[in-house]
Amino acid sequence: MGSETEQPVEKRLQGTGVSPGIVRATAYLRTTDFEEPESRTIPRSMVPKEKARFHEALTRTREQIRALQQEIESTLGAEHAGIFDAHLLVLEDSTVLDEVLRLLEMEKRSVDRLYFEVSQRYIESLRRIADPYLRERAIDIEDVASRVLRNLRSPEPGEGPPGIHPGKPSILLTHDLTPSDTATLNRDLILGFATEAGSPTSHSAIVARSLNIPAVVALHDLEDVVHPGDDVLLDGYHGLLIVNPSAETLAQYARFSAEEGIVDADLRSLRDLETVTADGRRIVLAANIEFTSELPQVKEQGAEGIGLYRTEFFYLNAEELRSEDRQAENYGEVAEAVHPHGVIVRTLDIGGDKLWPELFDEPEPNPFLGWRGIRLSLAQPEMFKTQLRAILRASARGKVRIMFPFVSCLNEVREAITLLNEVKHDFDVAGIDYDRGIEVGAMIEIPSAALIADQIAKEVDFFSIGTNDLVQYTLAVDRVNERVAALYQPGHPAVLRLIRDVVSAAHRNGIWVGICGEMAGDVLLTPLLIGAEVDELSVGAAQLLRVRRAVSRLHSDECRTMLDEVLTCALTSDVMARCRTMAQLHYPELLR
Ligand code: PEP
Ligand code: MG
Repeated sequence: MGSETEQPVEKRLQGTGVSPGIVRATAYLRTTDFEEPESRTIPRSMVPKEKARFHEALTRTREQIRALQQEIESTLGAEHAGIFDAHLLVLEDSTVLDEVLRLLEMEKRSVDRLYFEVSQRYIESLRRIADPYLRERAIDIEDVASRVLRNLRSPEPGEGPPGIHPGKPSILLTHDLTPSDTATLNRDLILGFATEAGSPTSHSAIVARSLNIPAVVALHDLEDVVHPGDDVLLDGYHGLLIVNPSAETLAQYARFSAEEGIVDADLRSLRDLETVTADGRRIVLAANIEFTSELPQVKEQGAEGIGLYRTEFFYLNAEELRSEDRQAENYGEVAEAVHPHGVIVRTLDIGGDKLWPELFDEPEPNPFLGWRGIRLSLAQPEMFKTQLRAILRASARGKVRIMFPFVSCLNEVREAITLLNEVKHDFDVAGIDYDRGIEVGAMIEIPSAALIADQIAKEVDFFSIGTNDLVQYTLAVDRVNERVAALYQPGHPAVLRLIRDVVSAAHRNGIWVGICGEMAGDVLLTPLLIGAEVDELSVGAAQLLRVRRAVSRLHSDECRTMLDEVLTCALTSDVMARCRTMAQLHYPELLR
C-alpha cells in the first residue's frame, strides 16, 4: 500500500575511513560472486554455434578491455593502464578456455554455465590459499570473467562492460581492491569506494588518499545490505557508508561539509608558511607521492618537497615506463617541479601487498616477510642499476636524494651503496652529469634496522622512518589484514620507543631523520613525533596543512615531556588518551 511514496529505510555500515571526503552517488557493486548462469543442456547440433558464441564474447571482451586501456591511458596516463595487460593475459589463458571447450564437447551444456563453473573453480581455489599475490590474481580473473559472462548474456553492445568501470558516476563497493586496481580507477566514474577488506596502511588506501578518492574499508556485510543502484553516501572522514540517506542525514552532512569548508579555508592561509613549532623549532614538512599527477595538488598544499616518492608503480602498472630514459625523465620532472625543495626517490619497493607477477612466478608463501624492497633490488642488480642510473641522471636537474627501502641489516646498505658507486664511476668515465654530493638514505622500517641504527647511521646521510612497516613488524600485525586491525597500533609504547631511539641514534651520528609512514600525517600523534625531535615529516597531500597547523601550536618542551611520560605507559589506550587531551587543548578544530 502506497509503496511508491514510501521512503526507503536508511541503513548505516560502519567501517574505517581511510581517505577523507564525502560523496553521494549510485552504488556500483562489484560482487564477489557472479550471477550464476543457468545450466542448460544443448543438442549436439548446437555445439558449433555455442562455440562461435563463446569466441564472439571473447573477442568483444578483448575489444572492451583494449578500449578501456586506451581510454585510461589517454585520461590518466600509461602508468594507470598497465593493469589491462594482465587482464588480456587472463582472458587468453588457454587453461581456462581449453577446459571450457572440452566440457562443451563432452557434456553439451550451455557455454555460459561452463565458463562460469571453470572460472569460479579457479577463483575459489586461489581465494582459499589467502595469499595476497593469489588474491590479486583472483580479482583479475573475476573481473575478466564477469565481463565475458556479461557479453555472453547480452550480446548487444551498449549495456556497458562490468568490472570497475560503471557507465555513470558511482561509488564502488567491493570485497577488496589491489593497489593496482586502485591506481587505475577512473576518477570521473568512481567517486569513492568502500571495501570489506583493507586497512589504513594498505597500499590501496594510500593510493586512494593520493588520488583524493574518498574511501572506507573493513565494512562487513556489504553485499547483504547494499543493492546495485542504491543511493549511497560515503563518509571517508568517519568510515561510514549510508544507504538511502534520509533528508535529515543529508541536511546534517550539508552542515558538516560547510564547517569543513571553513576549517579548510583557514588552513589554506598556512600554505606559504614555514612549519615551525610555537617555540620556533623548524620542521620540514614534505609530501609523499606515488604519481607525478599529484604534483600540482601537493604544491597547492604548500609541501616543502617530496619526502617519499614511491617508484614501484612504474613497475606495477606499465612495462614501457620501466626504461632508464622514462624513469630519468619522470624523476627529473619531479625534481624540477618541486624546486627549490628536493625529492627523495625511494628505490623499488615491490613485495608485500605490491606483487609484480612477472618477477613472482612462484607465489610468495609470506609476502610481507619475503622478497621485498632492497632484497629484490639486490637480487636483480641490472634492474636496480637501471633505476639508480635514472635517479642519478635526474639529480642533474634538481635536488634529488636516494633512499633504500626495507633494510634489515648493514650489509644490504653497503651492497646497495657499492652498486650506486659503480654507476657513479661509469658516469664519471662517460662524462655524464649528476650531483656528486647526492645524499643517500636508509628507510628504518624493520625493528632490526632500528636496533642497529647507530651502525647504519655511519654509512648514510639520512634516515626515513617507515612507520607503516615498523608498526607491522614490531607488533607482528599484518598491515592489510582487517581481522587484526585493532592490534595495529602506531601509538604502542614499543613503537614510540623505537622511534625515539632511532632519532637519537641519527642525531648522535650527525644525520637528520624524517618520518614518512602514515603516522606522520596523524595530528593526534604529532606531539609525540615532535617530542622525539624528528627533523622532517612527510605526509599525504590531504594531511599537509593539518600537520602544519598542529606543529605550529605545539611547544617542543611540552612534547618532550609528554613523550617521556607516555613511554612509561604499558597500554596504547593510555597513550592515545594523552594524545587526545593534548590535541583537544591545542587544535580542537582538527579533531573531527
Ligand atoms: C612505511 O612503511 O611506512 C612506508 C612509508 O613505506 P610503504 O608504506 O610504502 O611500505
Ligand atoms: Mg614500508
